[in-house]
Amino acid sequence: MPFKIITLDGAAASGKSSTAKGLAKKLGFLYVETGSHYRAITALLLKHKVKPEEAQEVVATLGRVKASAKISGMQACLLLEGVVAKAKLLRSPEVNASVSRFAALPAVREYLLEYQRSHVELARRHGFSGLIMEGRDIGSVVFPDTPYKFFLQADSATRSQRRKAEGQEDTIALRDKLDSERSEAPLVVPDGALIINTAVLSLSEVIDRIAEIVAASKYKAISKRLFRTSLPIIDKNAVLHSGFRYEGRSHHYSYLQVLFTALLEQNYGFEPYGMENIPNQGAFILAANHASFLDSPAIGARLFRALYFFGRKTVFKHKFLAWWLNRLNFIKLDRERGSDLGALRTVIKTLQEGYGVQLFPEGTRSPDGKLQPGKQGVSFIACQAEVPIIPVRLFGNYHAWNRHRVWPRLHSKVHIVYGRPFWLQKSDSSARLTKEDYIAATDSIMASISSIQEPKEMLF
Ligand code: C5P
Repeated sequence: MPFKIITLDGAAASGKSSTAKGLAKKLGFLYVETGSHYRAITALLLKHKVKPEEAQEVVATLGRVKASAKISGMQACLLLEGVVAKAKLLRSPEVNASVSRFAALPAVREYLLEYQRSHVELARRHGFSGLIMEGRDIGSVVFPDTPYKFFLQADSATRSQRRKAEGQEDTIALRDKLDSERSEAPLVVPDGALIINTAVLSLSEVIDRIAEIVAASKYKAISKRLFRTSLPIIDKNAVLHSGFRYEGRSHHYSYLQVLFTALLEQNYGFEPYGMENIPNQGAFILAANHASFLDSPAIGARLFRALYFFGRKTVFKHKFLAWWLNRLNFIKLDRERGSDLGALRTVIKTLQEGYGVQLFPEGTRSPDGKLQPGKQGVSFIACQAEVPIIPVRLFGNYHAWNRHRVWPRLHSKVHIVYGRPFWLQKSDSSARLTKEDYIAATDSIMASISSIQEPKEMLF
């Protein structure tokens, strides 16, 4: 069996340590918590009264200290000056408060990088068939070439709750900010990492899912930047006055687009964020949360790319709506006939022709505004078509016009954020994807939507 390296990255309290430990037990791999390396160095430097801003002192102190590893059960621990620091010290409020500042220093990261990489050799020598390493930069810097990369996520309320339950005093929001914004090895979703939302799964589900993917590994999620030139975001005045038509849209589409943009801006101070994530050309899927009648108009409102929409056949019952929908890029989904393979094929064909398609992975509008579990149709389409998925999150949409209201609530705020694109691809083109693969892919899509943060302008 080839030696496998699994990387687990994520923010503070996203579930990395428990997952690494459980996964190590299940797979018989060695595991390493690199957070404890930075914590041990922090404790040592604090003991020597060195401050994070004293870079030279940091280098001099580390120069005098030798790092080595000790295996205890399935875990490899760091020895500094021949001792493994006590967990109580590593998790103390003093260390919590300073660790991210020391971890941002290039000298500290350089000191640990080769040591961390040397665990492959250590694990092999001790007969382990693989290595699990968790941290912030493992998939992006320490082992960027491994195919088994995972990024664990959970909303901030869940993460704070976890720390409270452990009785820890921790400034996780501040640490996340420092870890994400530093220039050296920042916390990012590594290219190719599969995102897993640990807030909606139990620990054993997370472990099983990763173990299955590592064993089967039939698809991989690849995240990369889309090429984009400087084509303008739709300029509504240009559409109104010059009669200029963009590709792939009828006059009706253009009129409605301008009308909805104006209505949304007037009534909801509508503002799109992340427009740079929409490609200039080629196919893409916009996978959005769904809580309101306003969602589709808002998603398409300011885009210069025409979108294809995908929805229930039953909306055609209303004659007025049907007249409009027939003149827009609308694909009917016949839900009474189960999964409707025909409609799925039409969506895949539309993507293969190079268009952008908007989909709601949750299927229907959320009854309470919260994200619901995703359905597998979207991951099926995404895995088959192999086009970029752009996670989209609408904010304020439920409040403005939810399924329990006949009329919209005017003068509230509705915003939209287009997130960073990623791909779902089969790692082996002849592999047949199973239900589990689609479930994992769906989770990955839902987690990417849930990870989109509310624009700061809305938090008043
Ligand atoms: O994972 P844990 O919360 O114990 O990590 C403590 C700190 O160590 C993080 O907030 C981060 O500043 C630093 N760290 C890092 N790179 C890693 C692991 C941890 O910078 N790979």
